Amino acid sequence: MIVAGIDIGSRGAKAVTMKDGKILSYTIRDTGPESVKTSYMVANAVLEGTGLSLQDINYVVATGYGRILVPFAHENVSEISAHARGINFYYPSVRTILDMGGQDCKAISCDEHGRVTNFVMNDKCAGGTGRFLEMIAEVLGFKVQEIGDASLQSTSAIPFNTICAVFAKSEAISYLRQGISRSDILAGLHDAIAVRCLNLLKRVGISKDFTITGGIAKNKGMVAKVKEKVELEPMLAPDPQIIGALGAALFAAERYQGKGTREDFKIHYGYTDATGNYFIVIDNAKCNACGKCVSACPAKIFEVVSEDHNEPKAVVADKARKRLSILCPGLSKCPKGREGTCKAVCEAEAISLTW
Ligand code: SF4
Ligand code: SF4
Repeated sequence: MIVAGIDIGSRGAKAVTMKDGKILSYTIRDTGPESVKTSYMVANAVLEGTGLSLQDINYVVATGYGRILVPFAHENVSEISAHARGINFYYPSVRTILDMGGQDCKAISCDEHGRVTNFVMNDKCAGGTGRFLEMIAEVLGFKVQEIGDASLQSTSAIPFNTICAVFAKSEAISYLRQGISRSDILAGLHDAIAVRCLNLLKRVGISKDFTITGGIAKNKGMVAKVKEKVELEPMLAPDPQIIGALGAALFAAERYQGKGTREDFKIHYGYTDATGNYFIVIDNAKCNACGKCVSACPAKIFEVVSEDHNEPKAVVADKARKRLSILCPGLSKCPKGREGTCKAVCEAEAISLTW
C-alpha cells in the first residue's frame, strides 16, 4: 500500500509518501500562486527517484491552506488534525503542539492516538509567523534561514514593544539606525514571539511532552527562546516542517484500509482574539448535507460541497475562513439570535460553537 499526504501551506508545499507504514520519500517546495499547479509540482517532486507515478498512489489526503485545491486528493483534513496525527508517528507521548507556520501559529492539544482535543490559533496578525520573519530578515539583510543562528550570537537582546508586523519593522529599522547589532535586534524579536507563543500554549495547557512543528521549528534561535519561556525541552521531529504532510499520509493509510472513520475528520475553524478563543467545529460523521446552516447563517459562512466525489458535507467557505472573526460575531451576538443560529437549525447536531 502506497499513500501520500500533501500539505499546501501559505509559504511552503510539502509532500510525504509512505509505503506499508514507513516513510518512502518527502519533499518541501515553495508554494506558487496557484494551488492546483503547486499540488502537481510537489507531487511530482516527491515521486522523483521513487520509480512511481501518481497513478501508483493508492490514496491521497491533502491538508493545509490550499487543501481543497488538490485535484488528485481523495479527501482533505484540517492542518490541525494533520499536525496532531503526524507528530504521533514519532512521539506518541506528545500532548501539546506549537505549530509555527507561514501565516499563523497554533497551539494544539492531542491524545495518545494523535487526535485533537483542543486548539487555539492566532491568524489575525502576521506577527510571529513565517511571513513576518521573512520580512524582518529582509530588513536586516539576512536570509530567513540565517536569522535563528544570528539571534543566538546576541549578547544583549533588545526588548520589543510589539510584534505587530508594521510596527516591529519600523522599530527594527530605528534600532538599526541607533547602531544596535542585528543579532541583538533579532534576539529581542525572537523573545517577543516566544512570549506570544507561551501565551497561546497556556490557553490549551502545556504538557511535559511538547513539540514544535512547522517551518519555524527549524529556526534554532526560535526553538531556544520557546524552550526558555516554556521551560521544557521540545521533542523535535527529524524534519518538523513535514509533520502536516506526514499526518495527512497517515490519515490516507487509515482511510485506504477502511480503518479511519469520519469521526477523525471533524473540521475545526477558529481564531483567537483579545476576548478569547472562538471556534466552529463541523462533525463530518454527523453532517447529512441538509444545507440548513447555509441558509440560516446571515454571514454566509457555510457552504455544502462535495470534494472529489466524496459525500457532500458542510464546510466553512474558504473565503470566510480568514475573516471569521469579523463575519461571525459569536453565538450570543449572532444577528439571528440563539434560536436561529447555525447550531440551532442543525438537527443532526453536527455543529459546535465554542466561545
Ligand atoms: S445544518 Fe448540520 S447537517 Fe445540515 S449541512 Fe449544516 S452542518 Fe450539515
Ligand atoms: S453563530 Fe450566526 S453568524 Fe456565526 S456562523 Fe452561526 S449563524 Fe453564522
